[in-house]
Amino acid sequence: MKVEFYKHNVGDEERKNVDEVLQSIFLTTGPKTNEFEAKFAEYLGVKFALGFQSWTSAAFMVLMAWGIGEGDEVIVPSLSFIASANIAVLNGAKVIFCDSDPKTGNMDINHFESLITERTKAVVPVHLYGHLVDMKALRKICDNHDIKILEDSAHNIEGTRDGIRPGQLGDAACFSFYATKNITCGEGGAVVTNDPELENKLRLIRTHGMSKSAADRYTAKYKHWNMEALGFKGNMNDIQAAMLLPQLRKIDDVLVRKEEICSYYESRFEKAGIEFPQTLEGTKSGRHLFTFWAPEDRRDEFLTKLQDKGIGVAVNFRAIHTLQWYQEYLEAEPNLPIATSIGRRTITIPMYPSLTDEEVEYVANSVVELFSE
Ligand SMILES: *Cc1c(COP(=O)(O)O)cnc(C)c1O
Repeated sequence: MKVEFYKHNVGDEERKNVDEVLQSIFLTTGPKTNEFEAKFAEYLGVKFALGFQSWTSAAFMVLMAWGIGEGDEVIVPSLSFIASANIAVLNGAKVIFCDSDPKTGNMDINHFESLITERTKAVVPVHLYGHLVDMKALRKICDNHDIKILEDSAHNIEGTRDGIRPGQLGDAACFSFYATKNITCGEGGAVVTNDPELENKLRLIRTHGMSKSAADRYTAKYKHWNMEALGFKGNMNDIQAAMLLPQLRKIDDVLVRKEEICSYYESRFEKAGIEFPQTLEGTKSGRHLFTFWAPEDRRDEFLTKLQDKGIGVAVNFRAIHTLQWYQEYLEAEPNLPIATSIGRRTITIPMYPSLTDEEVEYVANSVVELFSE
């Protein structure tokens, strides 16, 4: 049997919607992007959403809009994708790595609090695998220290914790529509926020600080535009938005099937004594990835054996501070035992709605077998 690591959910509805855009004159940010932004904000229960080219372009520009740079510190969990840290470095700020909670793999809030200094300007909580960070606790700490919260919600659109959605307690939350994410247009991203000042600034700097968008420039009579701020480039286009709109409508139905698959994996693994990140009481996970924890000295052997059985695998993630560039960047080795250990143990297995029951059973059997060898 061959079980792909991931299969996207893009079909006829998305194709039809893209075709509509291809028949319009301007393919860039326009009516479809506006519609996506409105629907995305409505789904999350926040005031504003802005479409971007990727999570990275979105999050980079949020830090830029906040003026975070030289002399500032940004706290980032080490157990994440490198982008979570890179956006701070690229803005000239210093990254301070935070350890993980051993139950969930998410940022350890107590450790975060111990890392705060006068230079700490922002934190990037990552809702790893779709499980939300304790945003209520984080908000309280950050309010006491005047620290901005930029949620890395690349793994979670649909999950909640204590009834709270991503973007509702953070100062901003960024999303990814990269090829393997919960909804995708190949590459894409978004920011949501309740802060009108940030929304205004982002709208400006996502197109080089130009006072008029392309739609304004080409659909009305020509008028000179100005450059009102130093910006970058990262606006979403209508082709991307057209692909995302139908997927956003289906997102909660898709989650039902994903939850079914995860529950099956969890009950099989629990019985076999295999560890995996827990979904805490009060949390409804967005179910982006399913990972389990292998013994540290056998992880790479397990990766090979699963692939030999035709099963697609990934590692999410090796701790960022252990990677070559950050090893050179860091002045001293940080003490992050949990993130380091999970990074050496974690294996991600296939989990997406089009998996058949037969495939899910085959994957679970194959994992359980490895542990009994
Ligand atoms: C995918 C991912 C990103 C980056 O998203 P892009 O859209 O590729 O820039 C950031 N953080 C996490 C946790 C991710 O998984």
